[in-house]
Amino acid sequence: MAGEPLMGEKRWSGHALWRHIGSRGLGHLWRALCVALCAWCIAPLAQAAACEGGQHVRLTRPVEFSAEDLAYFRAMAPLRVLSADAPPMSRYDEQRRTYTGISVDVWCFIAARLGLRYELIPGRDQTVAQKILQVQEGAADVFIPLSLQSERAQRGLFTLPYYESYYAVIARKGWRLPIRDIVDLAQYRVGVVRGVALEPTLKEIVPPHQLFSFDETSSAGLFLALRDGSIDVAVFNKSIFAEKRYLHEYFDLEDVLTLYGNPRAYRFYFSPTPQHERVVAAFDRYLAAMDVTESIAVHEEGERQFIERYVAQRGQRIFLQVASVSAVVLALVLYLSLRRYRRLVRLLERSNSQIRRQQQALQAANQELERQSQTDGLTGLANRREFDHALRREQARQQRTGAPLSLLMVDVDHFKCVNDHYGHAMGDDYLRAIARVLKTAVGRPTDLVARYGGEEFVCLLPDTAAEDALKVAERIRQGVAELGLPNALAAIPRLTLSIGIATASGTSAALQQLLAQADTQLYAAKHAGRDRIHAVVL
Ligand code: GH3
Ligand code: MG
Ligand code: MG
Repeated sequence: MAGEPLMGEKRWSGHALWRHIGSRGLGHLWRALCVALCAWCIAPLAQAAACEGGQHVRLTRPVEFSAEDLAYFRAMAPLRVLSADAPPMSRYDEQRRTYTGISVDVWCFIAARLGLRYELIPGRDQTVAQKILQVQEGAADVFIPLSLQSERAQRGLFTLPYYESYYAVIARKGWRLPIRDIVDLAQYRVGVVRGVALEPTLKEIVPPHQLFSFDETSSAGLFLALRDGSIDVAVFNKSIFAEKRYLHEYFDLEDVLTLYGNPRAYRFYFSPTPQHERVVAAFDRYLAAMDVTESIAVHEEGERQFIERYVAQRGQRIFLQVASVSAVVLALVLYLSLRRYRRLVRLLERSNSQIRRQQQALQAANQELERQSQTDGLTGLANRREFDHALRREQARQQRTGAPLSLLMVDVDHFKCVNDHYGHAMGDDYLRAIARVLKTAVGRPTDLVARYGGEEFVCLLPDTAAEDALKVAERIRQGVAELGLPNALAAIPRLTLSIGIATASGTSAALQQLLAQADTQLYAAKHAGRDRIHAVVL
């Protein structure tokens, strides 16, 4: 930001631009375009840098300067101005990238009238103490605004004051401290920013061990001390606290007393040079005749609006924070539930497949048990139980359909002799060999071959007439004869069989009758000399 000679007031209107082009001819069109482009580029800068706020200040009586004075001020090098960030006196506006406030208005007003050139140097990263030091050492020309202290006055030049603000005693909210006057602070532990104008006064009132100084760069430290109870009260600029309260959310703190008896008068602070002495004298003439009421009203209202905006933004921010935290929590809950659900599904699948496997094993075991319960252990043929079952079933069917049903009863001849002569184990081998012959000879899937007991076997042949049953029996007898197994002690010295056949055909025959008749035929075959077949049709 600069005073008038630095930033031109002249602006290019569209109309003026065309007049310019017309008078110089098209040959100068490119130059006009360049000018237009430059004007367009610097327009926002010029706006930002224009001496804003000067209109809020007015004079109560005219102030005149000689032409020589004015020429002197105009000829001065641009003043390097440093500003405090202390609203409503001065605040750095992030959006406009410049300082605004009562001090800036006053500065603008006077500088414009004196024709001073200046530059407001952005220095947000510097502390007030650093900025003051720069002015005292001549690295900068002016600091705005600053309250008068004797120590500061020795090392710089103060103008007259133009704005008054007050200190406030700040305590934790709800603490009913009986403080009615600054002298009452003597009984408390008091925190204050190091080097402020009120510090010497406080030193006179508060005992040294109860007075705590905090660094200006971190007024936060002062308020934190208040919060954690290491001090009872803080003494701080009332206006600045009003803003910091919102900016840094010190809502648990409040000012309990405004120290109107100790006003803080703000001035411009110049580095001590003879040139600046002349500027300060000129400033003082203006300041003595100046009314800044409107500027104060405008900027205090600006602060109020700023705080309102901040509170609104804070509301939005809190809403967004709550919303985003809720979203995160919800997502987390969903994620955990989903994970838990997946884990349960996996567990369920695992236990299901375990159950399926166990069911399969049980089924297989049951099947095996059933097979074993139906099978003869020695020969692998169906056992007596299975035969009885099949006989009942087939006989019932035969009675329904009238289809012929044949039963062969097979008994090994002189098997005792086999055991006696070759031993029991060989006898078992013989029985297994006979079983193989039986299975080969009885071919239909509906036929059943079973071990009836000891060395007796039965063949149940559904839908088989007497002559076919006889053929099967003959195949069996032949098959065993062909095995050529010796039976040395028998009348015929090889293994032979006797077979009795009973065939139920057409008329119904009782269960026991079929068995008894087959047995009778077997007995007859034995009696007739063995190694033969006897049959009957019921
Ligand atoms: P036949 O029938 O010709 O009158 O004379 P047999 O010697 O066969 O007389 P019987 O039918 O009375 O004897 C059957 C023998 O079969 C008696 C028993 O020791 C034998 N036996 C029964 N079951 C088995 C078995 O599982 N294994 C063996 N090795 N022998 C058995
Ligand atoms: Mg027998
Ligand atoms: Mg026998």
